[in-house]
Amino acid sequence: MNPITISEVGPRDGLQSVETVMSTADKMTWIETEYRAGVREIEVGSFVSPTVLPQMADTAVVVAGARRFENLVVAVLVPNVRGCEAAIEAGAHKISIPLSLSETHSQKNVRRNHKQMLSEISACQKLVDQVPLAERPYFEVGLSTAFGCTIEGLVEEHFVIEMAARVLDLGVAEVGLSDTTGMGNPAHLERLVTGIWQRCGEARLTGVHLHNTRGQGLANALRAIELGITTLDSSLGGLGGCPFAPGASGNIVTEDLVFMLESMGHETGIDLEALLAVRHQVATLLPEEEWFGFTASAGLPEHFGKTALAETP
Ligand code: ZN
Repeated sequence: MNPITISEVGPRDGLQSVETVMSTADKMTWIETEYRAGVREIEVGSFVSPTVLPQMADTAVVVAGARRFENLVVAVLVPNVRGCEAAIEAGAHKISIPLSLSETHSQKNVRRNHKQMLSEISACQKLVDQVPLAERPYFEVGLSTAFGCTIEGLVEEHFVIEMAARVLDLGVAEVGLSDTTGMGNPAHLERLVTGIWQRCGEARLTGVHLHNTRGQGLANALRAIELGITTLDSSLGGLGGCPFAPGASGNIVTEDLVFMLESMGHETGIDLEALLAVRHQVATLLPEEEWFGFTASAGLPEHFGKTALAETP
């Protein structure tokens, strides 16, 4: 079975969508304990204006702190070239910039249309290319609202594939598919993934960012790994919620995702019992927030980790 990389996005995607501004020390505790539980990629923050998102004002410090952990990929999100510059300076290993496929959403989110975003992405790529190879961060573009938009509605599949090709033609290493609004289903995901692969090559799309807004998160994740996707974004306790569907989780829940993958025999490198302890600890730091996921409340079955699969010669 393929080893799967779980990219924890809670400290960025989760924390930037909740009211609480978590202290740098608490963020570091979260990142360190989740690293100790075996998570090897964490999106630790975003380089955005602190007046817009005060929750992310300490991202440079958090990046520096997280770089101490051996073999941890320290990922960040940037909205523009200025953010990209700051991310490079801070020493982030992986930098993502979102490109919203719904132009209306893009205008609202980053105040830029597609043409402007493509030139922003191109400028980021040039900056990244100037970094000496040994320290050069991995740069990718997250295709957000790829499965539909709450403002524009349907996002045409051929357009998603077309935009992926245009982004990759700028020299960007990889695109990721984001179901920002939780509108996707497994068949839709398959068409988009295979469509991009056929047009651009399998190496140029290896990760997806899924939401559980309509309960399709794990079904979509399963279809993704069956197809051969190797990186899945998720967030501890599904932190972040979803502004469009009260009571529904936003990001897929890391604990439930690890349970599914490990039970199936995929290696995630994560100790689920330790991860559940991290959830418990972080939940006490954010008492106001709603925590999602089933594994934490149901507990681990006694035979967990001793599957029949592991015993087959
Ligand atoms: Zn998300």
